[in-house]
This record gives sequence, structure tokens and C-alpha cells, in this order.
Amino acid sequence: RTVYVNGVFCPENQGVVSIFDRGFLFADGVYEVTSVLDGKLIDFSGHMARLRRSMAELSIPAPASEDELLSIHRQLVDKNALAEGMIYMQVSRGAADRDFLFPSGDIRPSLVLFTQTGQLRDRPAARTGLRIVTLPDLRWARRDIKTVQLLYPSMAKTEAKRRGVDDAWLVEDGFVTEGTSNNAYIVNAEGALVTRPLSPAILPGITRTSVLRLAAETGLAVEERPFSVEEALAAREAFITSASSFVLPVVEIDGQKIGEGVPGEIARRLRAIYIDEAVRTAV
Ligand code: PLP
Repeated sequence: RTVYVNGVFCPENQGVVSIFDRGFLFADGVYEVTSVLDGKLIDFSGHMARLRRSMAELSIPAPASEDELLSIHRQLVDKNALAEGMIYMQVSRGAADRDFLFPSGDIRPSLVLFTQTGQLRDRPAARTGLRIVTLPDLRWARRDIKTVQLLYPSMAKTEAKRRGVDDAWLVEDGFVTEGTSNNAYIVNAEGALVTRPLSPAILPGITRTSVLRLAAETGLAVEERPFSVEEALAAREAFITSASSFVLPVVEIDGQKIGEGVPGEIARRLRAIYIDEAVRTAV
């Protein structure tokens, strides 16, 4: 693979970042994952807007303009002949003597990008659905910032796999916050789409924004409010969204079937119209 590190495109084994980089020592960095379909970028401007917000919340200066970042993304797609997969982009505060205090003065943020190939459109999970467990949400209280501090979600996903299922939904005070790396939704008995409202408790998913708009456009009732684990277990359907999974149905939670225990009609339809629109508006 060809990767990008601080101004240079190079083979992946030659990409180097300082051991003093605060991304490495303090998880002092933010990231975005943009999907690629047919060699084009999905929801790119949304990912850029969220990156800007994440950097602003942590006072990390932008390492490049939005046009430059778009150009780097496109060059990586070309250099790696990436037709379908993801581009990971990370901005960390940069290298400085180890100190809890944010460094003052001339520290340059580190910018790293690499590609990952993957089948996004044709995923077995779209047909079979995901099985998940619920686990306590033990992350910090600023989950709205997309930081590289991913240890707890990584532990939770590993615990889910250890229990023989695909993923975990995280729970706080009896209410689902989100998945380990995705937003969480149910369709209740009245046919309404329910998902947690934006707040510091969850990441504002770029896919979430698109899917909620498409759901409303197709005439679905959308309720942005927290839902409990009990409500999820009694739901007609459940599903997740993220840049890399688009929309994927959830068919089992904590060993209990959701609805008929097969992918729901609304999740299936939203997946189809999301992918349709994503491809039409890709850049
Ligand atoms: N929630 C969390 C915790 C995530 O890590 C992610 C994506 O990585 C999402 C939600 C979904 O966000 P997006 O749709 O922008 O990929």
C-alpha cells in the first residue's frame, strides 16, 4: 500500500511518526473514516465538517485545507487503485516533550492517511443480520469528539466476539448510547424509527445524518430520544449505521430475537436508498 504521512506519499513500511507524537502518548488526536465506492468518496463534506469540529474542540490546528485533504484522499485512491473500501485519516496534535499540558508554541499537527480495501456493498451481514450483546458504556463523557481514544470500544467489541456475537451496544443508565463503532436504532411497535438524540453521549454519525433525512423523506416517523434495552428487546426491528457498514440490521440482542429474528424491512430499504444516494452524490 501507498500511505500518506506529513506531506509525503510512501510505501506503508516507510511511513514514520515520532514516538513523542501526542497521538501515541496521550491519544491526543482525532480521525475520520470515509468510505469509497466505485473509486469515489462517500459523504466527504460531512466527514470534513466533523473533523473541523473535532479539531476545534481540542484546539488542534488544521494540518491542511479542505481542498488539500480532498486532493490527498483522491491521490490515495488512485495510487492504491482503490475501488471499494475505506480511507482512514488521523490528525494528532504532533510531537512534543511528554507533558500533560498542551504544548505551546510551534508544534505541527501530524497528518496520516491510509486505505483499507473491503467489500462494503455486498456484506453477508446485510442478509443475515448482526447479533449483539449489551455492555456498560464506560467511555469518557465527550463521545461527540471523534478521538483516537478507542480502548474501551475495542475492549467491548472483543468481549462481544468472545461471547460469540458480532458487536456490542453500550448502555448508560438503562439506555442505549450507541454501538462500539456505530449509531444504534430501533423501529418500535408503532413503526417509528427511534434513535438517541445528539449530545456529548454519542458520536454525531455522518451516516446517521443522511439516514435520518432519508427516513423522514420516505415518510417514516423519526423520534430522536433515548431508548432503553427493554424497548430494544421489544422492538420490531433494530439496526446500526456507520460509514463503513452503511445500514446493517440487528437480529438478536442479548440472546433474544428482535422481531422475527431476521433483517427488518425498514433496515433493508434504508440500506438500499442510502447506498443509492451515496453513490449518486460521491465525489
Ligand atoms: N459511533 C461511534 C462510536 C463510532 O465510532 C462511529 C464511527 O466510527 C459512529 C458512531 C458512526 O459514525 P459515521 O456514520 O460517521 O461513521
